This record gives sequence, structure tokens and C-alpha cells, in this order.
Amino acid sequence: MRTTNSGEELRQPPDSPPIPKREVQTGKLGLSTPLREIQWLPPQRVRQLERFGLGTVQELLAHFPRRYEDRNQFQRFPTHEEEKPVCVCGVVIKTAVKRLPGWKKLFEVHLHEENANALSPTLVCRWFNAHYVEKMIATGQRLVVYAKPKLRAGKLVVDHPEFEVVENDEEISIHLKRIAPVHPATEGVSPRVLRGIIYRVLEQLDDASVANRLPTGLDDFPPAQALRQIHFPTDFEQLERARRHLVMHEFFAMQLFVAAKRAEVAEGPGEAHCGSGALMKRFQEGLAFPLTNAQIRSIEEIRADLASSRPMNRMLHGDVGSGKTVVALSSMLLAVEAGFQAAIMAPTQVLAEQHYLNFKRWLQPLGIEVALRTASRKEDSGIGNEPLFELGNTRPGQRVVSSGAPQVIVGTHALLYEGGFDFTNLGLVVIDEQHKFGVLQRARLIGQAKAPDVLVMTATPIPRTLTMTVFGDLEVSTLDEMPANRGKIITALRDDSKLPDAVKFIREQLDAGRQAYIVYPLIEESEKLEAKAATHEFEKWRELLAPMKCELLHGRIPPEQKETIMERFRKGEAKALIATTVIEVGIDVPNANLMLIENAERFGLAQLHQLRGRIGRGKHKSYCILLSAAKNLDAIEKLKILEQTSNGFEIAEADLRLRGPGDILGTAQSGLPPLKLGNLIADAEWMRLARDAARKLFAKDPHLERPENQRFRELLVESRKMILSQVG
Ligand code: ADP
Ligand code: MG
Repeated sequence: MRTTNSGEELRQPPDSPPIPKREVQTGKLGLSTPLREIQWLPPQRVRQLERFGLGTVQELLAHFPRRYEDRNQFQRFPTHEEEKPVCVCGVVIKTAVKRLPGWKKLFEVHLHEENANALSPTLVCRWFNAHYVEKMIATGQRLVVYAKPKLRAGKLVVDHPEFEVVENDEEISIHLKRIAPVHPATEGVSPRVLRGIIYRVLEQLDDASVANRLPTGLDDFPPAQALRQIHFPTDFEQLERARRHLVMHEFFAMQLFVAAKRAEVAEGPGEAHCGSGALMKRFQEGLAFPLTNAQIRSIEEIRADLASSRPMNRMLHGDVGSGKTVVALSSMLLAVEAGFQAAIMAPTQVLAEQHYLNFKRWLQPLGIEVALRTASRKEDSGIGNEPLFELGNTRPGQRVVSSGAPQVIVGTHALLYEGGFDFTNLGLVVIDEQHKFGVLQRARLIGQAKAPDVLVMTATPIPRTLTMTVFGDLEVSTLDEMPANRGKIITALRDDSKLPDAVKFIREQLDAGRQAYIVYPLIEESEKLEAKAATHEFEKWRELLAPMKCELLHGRIPPEQKETIMERFRKGEAKALIATTVIEVGIDVPNANLMLIENAERFGLAQLHQLRGRIGRGKHKSYCILLSAAKNLDAIEKLKILEQTSNGFEIAEADLRLRGPGDILGTAQSGLPPLKLGNLIADAEWMRLARDAARKLFAKDPHLERPENQRFRELLVESRKMILSQVG
């Protein structure tokens, strides 16, 4: 039995012991049976599987196929290039080894359809420098090949195809004349070997050991049947039903974990942190604008949480510029009025500094003391012993934090972890602009003895699919309305050859007194290269925009220096800010109405939208110019979405569809393990069903104490173990 996917597994000597005949298989296997107890599995195989994380029958059967080949009916040989891979079965009529300049060797295999005639097409399979393949393939053999054919010098060729040698051994019925699963392979264990092992394990599987752990009605397909059909489907309809069952199982396990967390938080030792609202009202009356309905609604939602003795665990999300800060501040003032400290944590030093400046400006007139706490700076607004805001409406028994201890603290995220600040009486923590705060980190924060209420604000709108899953333990407030006074942003996508026109346009705007951001993609290879690229960009733009004053901002500039640079830009002393994406979040300079983004194709949609949110904040019409070198139609289509809409929710959905959740969140950031089978986008509706079922379960039985719920408790224990082991 020899086979390969990419050849990886062939480093294993091809004479590994064959799977012995059926007689050896005795007894039934349970899900929890360790593979090493299976007699017909040679110890060496078991070790290989264990190294791959497959130590029990359950783990082996949860190693799902990554695709299927319909080997009932192979496709005809291709006669032209194909967009998608084809799966064909053919006979080797010729093999050849060619020496190439530069390449050491090329191995070619000519494949014909079985029972071919002279006019039948030939498919040429090619491998470069793959000695192991040479040893595997010989004239006369039958091969199953899976690859995307392309036309080269008048011939249809496939390079480094996935293939299997069809051998007429006793196992042939496992591999042919069926929908054959192709499992993810590992070193030493090819898809064909895995298929054989899984087939035999399923033959011996005791269906009674596969417990049904879904609530009735969620998906009633028999679970053991689902395991059989996902690996060896009788037809595609059965496969789809099996997949639904297993995806539901995966989703439900995840939602059980999330719902348990949520139930735990709800029972935590919380206390109310809410004043009457008089202080908040004074702050809001001092604003130059009316709140949007979405802001008012969100503040009310938060207020209800603050007033309840249940700890708050809420997310506020909305488009860039939708006014999250005002909502945060209003909430913080509710807590301050009730006599508690309120803290806001920014992801970076620059943003913390900016919040600090803004907060001081807003809060000092109210007599509220603000402090900045970051790794490199500690500063108090220094109201000292001046009279504080009169707290006529404070609840009895509550008093304002004594002067000296700041009531509002602005810091960086690091502070929360490193214990860099000693909160005396923390009532509310706002975590600003961050996806990175996973379920577990929040749990740690909320799990403190005297848990503060927690409000997480994210920099961008998050599609519902994701708020349901990754953030599933959070209540959600959505700012789905932009302030009315927003200047319009006109976005234009241009080929980068149009740079001179763009420069001319920018110069006109700068001459008229406006300011501009110039963004270039970050070079990440090394610090040195990055600094060099930055300097190069800076020199280029300084010349292009001379004599206007330009500033350079990138990630390697020390925080204090960054702050002075930002300050010069904010004051209008600098006209153009040449920057990497460090300007991405939070920066607010209303007079800057222009943004040019170089190599826009290198950014994700959500990120571009986020960047663009830096402009359109003042009364002038704003312009965003996306320069792109992309010739590829997909890339251009993608960027065009930004020309068409400025609705962050639409853009986030598009980004999710195009790039998947990993790119939006980063897997490590979500605090939940990646899904094995389910798809957050395509299967979103199932996720909703699973979530509702999990929540319903906990609403009725918060500790899963009822006998009929014990099976869920086991699932929860497993899912907890898996999540903790994966996200540590
Ligand atoms: P984001 O949601 O992106 O964090 P900010 O809170 O930074 O947005 O708000 C962006 C700008 O809009 C700020 O200058 C803020 O003062 C202003 N703003 C907030 N709410 C309103 C409103 N209701 N009407 C007009 N401007 C507002
Ligand atoms: Mg903000």
C-alpha cells in the first residue's frame, strides 16, 4: 500500500506493516478506546497517529475528511484548462525522468483513460525533484489523480497532483466504487492509510458508545450514523445530513461553554455601580451636539446593567466615528457618581494619551479627577483638593472617591494584566478598541473578588455571526447610526500610475488649509527594513508636498515622541502625516479631510474602512484615495466595495465573506478554538440555533443539576477542557 498526498508521508519506509486480515478484528470498540488497544493496529502506526493527536477512537473519528472524491463515477479526462481541480482515474502509459537547467530533475507520468483509444486525451502529471514519487509509480499502474489541469505547450498537465496508486489488494473496496473520503494526512500516514484504518474502526464501532448529546429537536440524526456517514457517505444527501449533525454538535459544545460562562458571570459577586445620572446629564448638556438615538439606546442598556447587582459583561460596537467615546464616558460618569472609580483601557500608548487629553478637557469642568496610567507615564490631572462635583444625588451610604484617588483612570490594556495600577474602588472598566479581549481574559477580569462591570468597545462593527459566537458570552449594544453632522467621504480607487494626479489634488487641499494622512503598508520583515521603508516614504512625500510641513509616524517611534508628533498634527502645525497603520484606531483630527492609501490591495477591507474613518470628522468634504497596483480582478472588485459603501456593517460582512473570520479576528484573539467542521459564515443559522438551545438550557437549569441534563454536563467538561488546552 503506497500512496501520497504531497509525498510528506512517504518519508516513512514504504514497507510499513500492512493491515492484517479481518480475522484479527475482534470485539467491539467504544469511543473512548485508546488506539493502542486495537490489536490489528501495529504499534508503530499507533505512535504515528498519537503524534498527530489521535490517541483514541473518538479522536480518530473526529479527524474528519477534508474533501471527498466520487469514485463511483470518475470524471472524464479534461480536454482543456479547468478552474477547479478534477478527479480522474487513469492508467500509466509512460514515465520519464528529465533533467532540467536550474531544476535538478523532472519526473513525468503520462496517464490515459482506461479503455482509451488513439484519440483519447493524455494527462501529464509532473513532479519536480520528487525522488520518492519516481519510486512509487510504474507503467501499467492505475492512478487516481486530483489536481487543477493547465495547458502547457499544447498538453494538459498537472503539477504535483494529489494521487493514489490503485492496488488490487483486499482493501480495494474501501478505496474505490464509493464516495471516498480524503483525510488530512500527516507524516507517515497518507490519506489512503487513514481511510483504511478509519474504515476498520467504524466496522468495529459499538454504536451504543456514541452518546447523543444534543438537546431533542436541535438535530435528531443518529450520532453514530453521523460518524459513519461523514467518513463513508452512502450518498451526498446522507453526507449533508451527517455534516449538519456534527456541525451542530460542534457549535452546541462551544455555545454550552459560552452559556456556562455567561451563567457564571450572572451569578458572580457583583454590585450595582450606578448613580442617578445627574453627573452624566451635566456632561451631556455640555456637548456641542445632541446624542444619536443609537447612543441614547446604548447608554440606557448599559445603565440598566450598571444598576443591576449582576456584573455587566457587555460589548459596544459600531462604525468608526459612531461616537463610542461619548457612550463610554456617560457610562463612566454613572459609576463615578455612585462613588466608584471608572477606568478606560486603550490598546496603545498613543490612544491612551489621546483619551487622557480629551477626558481631561471634558471632565475637569465637572470637577472630576482624571489620571493617566501607562507603562511609561503616570500623571494626574491635578485637581487636588479643589471641591469636587457636588453629589447631591448619590445614593445613601455611597460617597465619591476621596480626592487624591483619581475617579477616572485612563490606561493601557497592559495595566489590567500586570497589575500596574492599584484600583481602590473600581466600578467600571471600559476596554477600548480591541478584539483581542477573548472570553477567557474577560472571565479573569470579571472573576475578581469585587468584580467591576465591564464594557468592551470594538473599533469596527462586527457581523452578527461573530457577535453570536466569538463574543457569545457578551450582551451586545450596537451603534448603528452615524451622527448627523458627518461630512461626506468620497472614496476613489486609482491605479498607482495616477499618483501625480493625486499629489496635485492633495496640494490643492493643503493650500486651502486642510490636512492629510498618507498611509503606506507596513513592511514587517525586520525593524531595520521597516525604519528604512518609513524613511524612504517620508523623503518621497516631503519632496512631493514641499514646502508643506510633513511628519512621520510609525510603530517604532517611541511613545513620547509619537505623542508630540500627533500633537503637532492635531494643532495644524504639520500639514501631512505620513504613517503606517498606527493611525488606524481612534485618532481624531477634524481638519484632516484627506487620506491617501498606497498599495491599498495589501490591506483588508475592514482595515481600510477603519483607516478611512480617520477622515470625515469635520465640516469639510473628505476624500479618500486608494492607490493600488493590483491588476487582479478580484482584488479590484474587493477594493471597489469601498467606493460603493461607507456602511461599516456592510463592509464587515463583505470582509468576513472574502477572508473568513480568522483574518478579522485572528484565531488567538477570539478566545475560542478554531472550528473543525463548521463554517461561521455558511452555517451561521445553525450557530444561532445552537446558541439559543444552550441559553435555554441554562435558563432552566443554571447548574445543569437535573438528571436529564447530565449528558450536557459531560459535554461541557469536555468542551471546557478542549478550549482551555487550545487557548491556554
Ligand atoms: P468612535 O466610535 O469611532 O470611537 P468617537 O467616539 O471617536 O467615535 O467619535 C467621533 C467624533 O464624533 C468625536 O469627535 C465625537 O466628539 C463626535 N461625536 C460623538 N457623538 C456625536 C453626536 N451624537 N453628534 C455629533 N458628533 C458626535
Ligand atoms: Mg473611539
